[in-house]
Amino acid sequence: MEMKKVLIIGGGGGGLILANHLDTNEYDVTVVDKSDLHFYQPWFLYIAFKGSKRKISRPIGELLKPGANFVKDEISTINLNERKAYGSRKGIYNYDYLAIATGTVPDPDQIPGLRQVYDEYGDYHTSVWNSEKLWSHISKFKGGTIAIGQSSPTCKCPPSLLEGAFLLEEHLRKVGLRDKTRIVFFTPFPRAYPAEPMNKIVEPMVHERGIEVMPFFDVDTIDDQKKTITSLEGESLKYDLPIVVPPCRGTKMKIIPETVQDEDRFIKADKKLMKIEGFDDAFAIGDCNTLPTSKTGVTAHLEAMAVSEIIQGRYSEFNGRINCPFDTAYGKATFVIADYNNPVAPYPPTKVKHMMKMTMARIYWMTLMGTADPIFEQFFKFTTPEKLNKKYASAE
Ligand SMILES: Cc1cc2nc3c(=O)[nH]c(=O)nc-3n(C[C@H](O)[C@H](O)[C@H](O)COP(=O)(O)OP(=O)(O)OC[C@H]3O[C@@H](n4cnc5c(N)ncnc54)[C@H](O)[C@@H]3O)c2cc1C
Repeated sequence: MEMKKVLIIGGGGGGLILANHLDTNEYDVTVVDKSDLHFYQPWFLYIAFKGSKRKISRPIGELLKPGANFVKDEISTINLNERKAYGSRKGIYNYDYLAIATGTVPDPDQIPGLRQVYDEYGDYHTSVWNSEKLWSHISKFKGGTIAIGQSSPTCKCPPSLLEGAFLLEEHLRKVGLRDKTRIVFFTPFPRAYPAEPMNKIVEPMVHERGIEVMPFFDVDTIDDQKKTITSLEGESLKYDLPIVVPPCRGTKMKIIPETVQDEDRFIKADKKLMKIEGFDDAFAIGDCNTLPTSKTGVTAHLEAMAVSEIIQGRYSEFNGRINCPFDTAYGKATFVIADYNNPVAPYPPTKVKHMMKMTMARIYWMTLMGTADPIFEQFFKFTTPEKLNKKYASAE
C-alpha cells in the first residue's frame, strides 16, 4: 500500500517536532522551508542585551529523524480544496495530510516611521542580525532616555518584552550607566505584564529597578528626526535610543479558500485539534494560527505533539498549556504557566528557574528531536496550572 503523504510547511519548532513524532515507516514525511536553517529564537534576547556570540542555528535537514525529507522552497500558494501546495522554486507538492507551521513575519511597515527605526537600530525579536544591530547601539550608548516596548498587541512570547527591559536595566547597571539613563517601557496593555497574577510578581521589580511604565500606549507613529514615538492615545515619548518590537503577522502566502485566514494572515484553526476551519486533513500549528493562547515555542511543541497523534489515528487534543520562561535578570527567572481552563499562576522567580531557562537553551535541540520528551512530561505533570494556582494563588 502506498504510504500517506504528510506535507509540513515550516521547519521551525512546530514543524520539526511534528515531523520527528511521525512514524516514517508508515508515513511519507516532507518538511518544506524557505530557509536551510532553524534558529533558537529565545536567545535573540541574550545577543541583543548581553552581546552573546553563541551559535543559535542549525541546518533543518540535520534536525530531522531518518526517513523524513527536507526540501528548501518557499510556498507561495496552498489550495486546501485540491490538496496541493505550490513552491516558488521547486514546483507542486501533493499531500494526504498538511500541517502549516510557518510562524510569523515582522511587519514594520504597518506603523509610519517604524521602518526607519527598525532598519537603523534593529530589535530583540526578529533575527540574529537585528539583535546584533541592537547590541552594537546598546554597547555604544552613553546615557539618555531609552524607550523600549512592543508596538502592537500581537507578539511572540509575551514575557520576552519585559525580559528585554529587565536585561537592559541589568546591563546598564553593570556598565555604570544606570544613573545616567531613563528607561521607559511602553506597552499597549493596561499594566507592565498583561496577565494580572504575573503582573503582581513583576511590577514591584519594575518599580524597584526604576523602570518607568507607559501603559495603554499603542504606537501610532515614530519620528526618528524628532526622536519621538506618538501613541494612538495622543501621548508622546522622547528617546535617545528606541527599542521597538515591530508588529507581526502571518507569513505572506495565498491560501484557498481565503476565508481560513484572518486580516493579519493568521490561520483559523480549532483550538484543541488545530484543524484548519472546514478541513479534516489540514492543520495549522504554532505561531501561524489563531489559537487563543500565547505564541510560544512550548505551545507550538504541544500542538505539534497532539497533531502527530491525530494524524496517526489516535485521540489527542491540546489543552492550551503555556509555559513561558521569564528571565527577571540578576540570575533569577520564573515561568508563565496557564491553560485554557486555568489562569496564569503567580509563580515566584528563583535562581533554580533561571538555571532551568539556561539549561533549556542547551537541550533545545534534543526537544526538537523528541529525545527530551520524558523530562518534559515530568515537568508538565508537576507544574500544572491547577497545582501552582492552588499553592501560590491561595497563599496570597
Ligand atoms: C525574543 C524571543 C524570545 C522567546 N522566548 C521563548 C521562550 O522562552 N519560550 C518559548 O516557548 N518560546 C519563546 N519564543 C517564541 C518561540 O520562539 C516561537 O513561538 C516559536 O519559534 C514558534 O514556532 P513555529 O514553528 O510556530 O514558528 P517558527 O519557529 O518561527 O518557524 C516558522 C518556519 O516557517 C518557515 N516559513 C515561513 N513561511 C514559509 C513559506 N511561505 N514557505 C516555506 N517556509 C516558510 C520559516 O522559514 C521558519 O523556519 C520567543 C521568541 C522570541 C522572538
